[in-house]
Amino acid sequence: MSERLAEHTTTRVGGPARAWVTARTEAEAVEAVRAADAAGEPVIVLGGGSNTLMADAGFPGTVVRLAFDGIEVLDGGADADGGDHAGEAVVVRIAAGHPWDDAVAWTVEHGLGGIEALSGIPGSAGATPVQNVGAYGADVSQVLVSLRAWDREAGAVVELTTADLAFGYRDSVIKRSMLETGAPSPRWIVLSIDLRLRRASAAAEPTAPVRYGQLASALDVEEGTHAPLAVVRREVLALRAAKGMVSDPDDPDTWSTGSYFTNPIVPAAVRATLPEGAPAFAAGHAEDGTPLVKLSAAWLIDHAGFAKGFGLPDVAPREGGPDGRGADGAGLAGGRASVSTKHTLAMTNRGDASTEDVLTIARTVRDGVKARFGVDLHPEPMIIGTSL
Ligand SMILES: Cc1cc2nc3c(=O)[nH]c(=O)nc-3n(C[C@H](O)[C@H](O)[C@H](O)COP(=O)(O)OP(=O)(O)OC[C@H]3O[C@@H](n4cnc5c(N)ncnc54)[C@H](O)[C@@H]3O)c2cc1C
Repeated sequence: MSERLAEHTTTRVGGPARAWVTARTEAEAVEAVRAADAAGEPVIVLGGGSNTLMADAGFPGTVVRLAFDGIEVLDGGADADGGDHAGEAVVVRIAAGHPWDDAVAWTVEHGLGGIEALSGIPGSAGATPVQNVGAYGADVSQVLVSLRAWDREAGAVVELTTADLAFGYRDSVIKRSMLETGAPSPRWIVLSIDLRLRRASAAAEPTAPVRYGQLASALDVEEGTHAPLAVVRREVLALRAAKGMVSDPDDPDTWSTGSYFTNPIVPAAVRATLPEGAPAFAAGHAEDGTPLVKLSAAWLIDHAGFAKGFGLPDVAPREGGPDGRGADGAGLAGGRASVSTKHTLAMTNRGDASTEDVLTIARTVRDGVKARFGVDLHPEPMIIGTSL
């Protein structure tokens, strides 16, 4: 039976899939993807739908939703001697369909440090390596040892290490296998991920340093020092909730893909062209040695005139674009979509938006930032069947 993507994505937009498979085991997922590939049928895999924007026309192929879960301790789990094993490495394997935040909560309950700063991120564990999910100075590449994936090209289950994944900022070889080919799904379908965590002491002493100024001040500790896992999780959830960055069925500010744009990484010289006060952080060097800085997309959006809650009246569909219409069949945006009222980086559905309504707001913001500051903003979510 076919399903509407709007029922399965956090932005609550997207038309029907031609075919729908709920994979309750790894084997079912592999078989569904293999069969679609063999038949030349377009296929996408979906976890929590929190980083996917699907066209209003829907998907002319099979959507395989990964619905298998489970957490297994692979290594370092023996503490039967009752001793204090603080600092010991523990490797856990998390099934791709396991809700990520449930996995984070499990690690904190079990006194395992390493992903507590990634609390509250919606979606599935298997999607976290796709864009190297990150927040508050942490990202998944810091703890991922390897993953198991169905390699659609090789027709086999393979193991990829952190080095194979060539992680970058919100980027990996898996994401690039979609962006570089325009394919709706990646070459590798992640089946499980192995994370190396650190055991906290019996006294619940901390394990991972706090790497983000705002979090450090909320915790009242110095950046680079430690705080207990459960406290870090609690503070991160509170900070995120205040920004509409924890999924909440009752709060349209969270009906989004989280940050819609990545923070632009530009030559350091661009900083001098921006107004005083524009945040910029050192971000390494380009291949030719040019120093780079990371700018704040949220700051640029806000200072280009798109404050929290920015919306538009009904506007005409863009020329040459997909035949987008608002949810009421008339113009686009029309109050149905807006910038979140809690954070300028999230493009939100206010209740009855279409995909094109949301994209109309995002395009206006992107074009306005370019016009005001000359900086290009790039979308973070995967956009399928339409474009920004
Ligand atoms: C309120 C909110 C806050 C957010 N905050 C953050 C944040 O702080 N940091 C951050 O990095 N992201 C954040 N996000 C984005 C999103 O939650 C993450 O990118 C998340 O990892 C996506 O998981 P998902 O299962 O929902 O992915 P989906 O949307 O289901 O899929 C995303 C992409 O990954 C592919 N994919 C999914 N599962 C697999 C798999 N097993 N194997 C191969 N490919 C796969 C899909 O085909 C698709 O292309 C936020 C989103 C929301 C709605």
